[in-house]
Amino acid sequence: FVLIAGLLLAVVVASASWLLFSLRLRPGKEILLGIKRNEFHVVYQPLLEAASGRVYGLEALLRWTHPVTGPIPPDAFINYAESQNMIVPLTRHLFRLVAQDAQLLRCYLPPGTIMGLNIAPGHLSAGSFHQDVNEWIAAMPPAHFDYVFEITKRTMVAGKNVAAVFDWLHQQNITIAIDDFGTGHSALIYLEKFNFDYLKIDRGFVQSIGMETVTSPVLDAVLTLARKLNLKTVAEGVETEEQAAWLIKRGVSHMQGYLFSRPLPPEQLISYLQQQADAH
Ligand code: C2E
Ligand code: MG
Ligand code: MG
Ligand code: MG
Repeated sequence: FVLIAGLLLAVVVASASWLLFSLRLRPGKEILLGIKRNEFHVVYQPLLEAASGRVYGLEALLRWTHPVTGPIPPDAFINYAESQNMIVPLTRHLFRLVAQDAQLLRCYLPPGTIMGLNIAPGHLSAGSFHQDVNEWIAAMPPAHFDYVFEITKRTMVAGKNVAAVFDWLHQQNITIAIDDFGTGHSALIYLEKFNFDYLKIDRGFVQSIGMETVTSPVLDAVLTLARKLNLKTVAEGVETEEQAAWLIKRGVSHMQGYLFSRPLPPEQLISYLQQQADAH
C-alpha cells in the first residue's frame, strides 16, 4: 500500500510540475511577457513619391528581440501570435508604441504624412477592433498623420464583414492598402469587391524586373488595372536604380525599398529625414 501511495504521489507531483513547466513555456505567454518586458520596438520605412523622391509617409514594422533567441523575424512571430490568439494584445501594443514614437516623429514630418500599419486578419475581425482603433487615434498627435492600414489577401479570405469594416475605416479617414499584391494566388476579384485606396506591388514582382520577358506583361496589366480602379500604386522592395527607373516609366506613383532606406528606428529615421531635407 505504501508503495502504491508513494507511486501515486510521485505521479501527482510529476504531473503537477509538468503542468507548471508547460504553463511557463506556454507559447502565447511569451508574447505577453515580451510586451511586459518591453522586448518589442517599431522601425519605420520611408515611403517615397516616385516622381519627386519626396518622403510622403512611413510604414511601421514591428520588431521583437527575444532575450534567449534574439531577433525573431516579424513574419514568424506575427503568424505565431495569430495561432496563439495573441494578435489583439500584440497589435494594441503596436498601436501604443507607434503613438509614443509619433510624438517625436511629427516634429520632423509635415502634416499629412502617411503612417501605414499592417493589420493582421485576426485583429480586423476581432470584437474589439473598432475600439482599439479609436483609442489609437485618440493617442496619436491630433491632425498630423494620415493613416493607411495595410491588409493582405488573407484578410479577405478569412475575415468577417470585411466590406463593412472597410466602410467604417473610411468613415474614420483611414485608407486601405492591399499589401503584397502579386504573391500566391492574387485573386483579382478582391480588387473589385473591396474598396481599396492603394495597391502595394509585392517585392517578388519588383525583383524580377530586368528579366523583362517574365515581368513586363503581367506587371503592365496590374498597373493598368490599378489605374482603371483608381488605386494608387506602391512598389515594395525597390533595391536598384534600374528597378526604380522601370517602375517610374510604367507610371508607378509611390515606392519603398532599400534603395531609399531600410526600416529605421526613430532616431536614425530622423537623421535620414534631415539628410533628405539638406539634399533637396
Ligand atoms: P510587409 O508589410 O510587406 O512589409 C515589407 C517588408 O519588406 C518588410 O519586412 C521590409 O523590411 C521589407 N523590405 C522593404 N524594402 C525592402 C527591400 O528593398 N528589399 C528587401 N529584401 N526587403 C525589403 P519585415 O519588416 O521583415 O516584415 C515582414 C512582414 O511581416 C511584413 O511584410 C508584414 O506582413 C509583417 N509585419 C511586420 N510588422 C508587422 C506588424 O506590426 N503587424 C502585422 N500584422 N504584420 C507585420
Ligand atoms: Mg505592409
Ligand atoms: Mg508588403
Ligand atoms: Mg510581406
